[in-house]
Amino acid sequence: MDNKDPSITTLSRRFLYRYLDYARVTTGTTSLTPHWDKCVNYVENSLQRCCALLSLSYGAIGVIVGHELTHGFDNNGRKYDKNGNLDQWWSNSSVTAFTEKTQCMIEQYNNYHWEEAGLNVRGTRTLAENIADNGGVREAFRAYRRWVDESRAGVEEPLLPGVELNNNQLFFLSYAHVRCNSYRPEAAREQIQSGAHSPPKSEVGSNEVIGAMSNYDEFRKAFRCDDSSVMNRGAQSCRVW
Ligand SMILES: [Zn+2]
Repeated sequence: MDNKDPSITTLSRRFLYRYLDYARVTTGTTSLTPHWDKCVNYVENSLQRCCALLSLSYGAIGVIVGHELTHGFDNNGRKYDKNGNLDQWWSNSSVTAFTEKTQCMIEQYNNYHWEEAGLNVRGTRTLAENIADNGGVREAFRAYRRWVDESRAGVEEPLLPGVELNNNQLFFLSYAHVRCNSYRPEAAREQIQSGAHSPPKSEVGSNEVIGAMSNYDEFRKAFRCDDSSVMNRGAQSCRVW
């Protein structure tokens, strides 16, 4: 079985170098690099060498690519035009509609409690990252399904031996795997008070995962989540992009 796509590897490497430059220029440090490095290594070495399933790669690096692209259209990125200048290039009615949609997400994340921190997530503070998480997973899932349709003529990838999950389920599992992390209480509080990201973990699991997954109809279809599930917000789902 050798269906690995070399373009994913090239893409992830290119993003890594761009990211290193960005971190050096903006903060004078590369302290965020180990996490990114770990992710790229994980995708390049472990996933592709092991199983070469692109459901896993799209769920891991694909979601991160989608996440970063969506930042260009979050509550901060939207304010910059195609030349990178601060300039409102949207109509007023677009801005109003966008703001209404983001309000839903602010309230959703405000209600998540992070046990380690003993605090609730701050929906406004983390809005940009939450918009990127939610948009990124949708973009990557659509890209994955398009790849299956166009490159495999709609034929599903082979399943992982011994793992009774279909490829759509593996995509979401791969995403959760990348986000998985652990914090000490001090770091958790610091993250809530000064961090831009939602916590990876809370009493109901992972906000970065649950927040985006519970808004997404493709997730609830993949895992057949019923209406009472915390993973299925149904009509309460928030969507910006
Ligand atoms: Zn982000």
